[in-house]
Amino acid sequence: MEFERTCPSAPGVPGSTVLGVVTGNGRIAYVSPPVPVDDVFLDAVGTIDLEKRFRFAHACVEGGCPQWTGSRCSVIDSAIEEIATAGDASLPACTIRKTCRWFAQQGRNACAICPLVITDT
Ligand code: SF4
Repeated sequence: MEFERTCPSAPGVPGSTVLGVVTGNGRIAYVSPPVPVDDVFLDAVGTIDLEKRFRFAHACVEGGCPQWTGSRCSVIDSAIEEIATAGDASLPACTIRKTCRWFAQQGRNACAICPLVITDT
């Protein structure tokens, strides 16, 4: 099965790419061009707390993910309910917007809080 959407908060496993780096203030600094996650990358950064330090992108596996409701990703829906934003109108310079699952569901509202989401808290 071929998946059309990209998960912006995926595990850091071979085959994923580095979407961003968690910075000291807890915000995501998006990486461009995307860096492939492979053995070289994992050897360089180590595997401890990987999803606390980076955000990774990978094909959205829909029903293969516990966050899938049957028709949507619950992560971004819950995050939008929980996180109040300052209404920043600018779109972060990520590399996956055309296929991003969160953007497809929530549009700019997803992008407004995306820099605040850390995969493994
Ligand atoms: S900034 Fe928007 S399009 Fe880019 S990964 Fe985040 S939610 Fe998706």
